[in-house]
Amino acid sequence: MNLRDTIRTIPDYPKPGIMFRDITTLLGDPRAFRRTVDELVQPYAGTKIEKVAGIEARGFILGGAVAHQLSAGFVPIRKKGKLPHTTVRIAYSLEYGVDEMEIHEDAILKGERVILVDDLIATGGTATAAAQLLRNLGAEVVAACFIVDLPELGGAAKLRDMGVPVRTLVEFE
Ligand code: 5GP
Repeated sequence: MNLRDTIRTIPDYPKPGIMFRDITTLLGDPRAFRRTVDELVQPYAGTKIEKVAGIEARGFILGGAVAHQLSAGFVPIRKKGKLPHTTVRIAYSLEYGVDEMEIHEDAILKGERVILVDDLIATGGTATAAAQLLRNLGAEVVAACFIVDLPELGGAAKLRDMGVPVRTLVEFE
């Protein structure tokens, strides 16, 4: 089984000209989902990882499974206004305009080793902001893991430039 073949492509979603890589078909395939989680955690198995931080919303599905596999805690990074306790925020650029994401201020202790998880990295705007947010709380961001990389958009390179190692399993142009 080839993981890439379990990802469905939806042309012109959410708008004309965009090829949306739909990972729900991978998640719904029992062997593909297990293989994805096993391969993502493989370099970190047996190392000390205190927390896995998942980016809303598909990063929650994957991040929960990765945290369980590594016997780590799970921490959500959410769009602003969704978390009930005191948060810290960071603004980040979208294609049009800016948005903010946040994390509970006590979700990470200084020096904790954290893995960041999302389904896909494109321009890296989302993931670089999330990595910076984790660092602002004192986390050591050990790695950022994604199922899909769109290398032409340069996001993985931006994370590496920040000193965050990147692990991805499948590439699309
Ligand atoms: P970036 O900030 O790197 O440009 O975009 C990545 C974010 O947008 C991720 O949170 C990801 O879930 C979402 N995203 C952008 N394009 C796609 C896509 O084609 N498929 C999926 N599944 N998510 C996407």
